[in-house]
Amino acid sequence: MNYNKLYELKTDKQQMIFNNGGVQMNNCKVLIDNQQIQFDTKVLCPFCLNDNTFDKFKKDRAWYICPKCKNLLTVKTCLSIIKMDVEQYAKWVFLYRLSGFFKKVDFEQWTNKMYEMGISFKFWKEYKRLKGEESYEYE
Ligand SMILES: [Zn+2]
Repeated sequence: MNYNKLYELKTDKQQMIFNNGGVQMNNCKVLIDNQQIQFDTKVLCPFCLNDNTFDKFKKDRAWYICPKCKNLLTVKTCLSIIKMDVEQYAKWVFLYRLSGFFKKVDFEQWTNKMYEMGISFKFWKEYKRLKGEESYEYE
């Protein structure tokens, strides 16, 4: 156990995370690099944005299957999405788009869910900013 890391996480209250359909301050004490995942660890699926506890995910070799949308997730994804703020999530989706993010999501459900969570506006603002930056780079 890395105590410094644990201390850092405990004191890092400024970090925003998604939780229960909203965004709230980080008071979660899960270590990202700790492979011993507790069954009651909260997980947010990036493809359907449903949160769940880790024990609801079925394991398939190195993957974990989302109980809701059946997409395969790695441990790293399972543990990191829930700690992201909206901008970080937008960037994650933006980078993932070329590896088939939009093939894995039910677009209508996914956008509705973001709307419900109240992150839709912020998400698309950031997503468009990233897209604009990229097209600027290639001009
Ligand atoms: Zn899912």
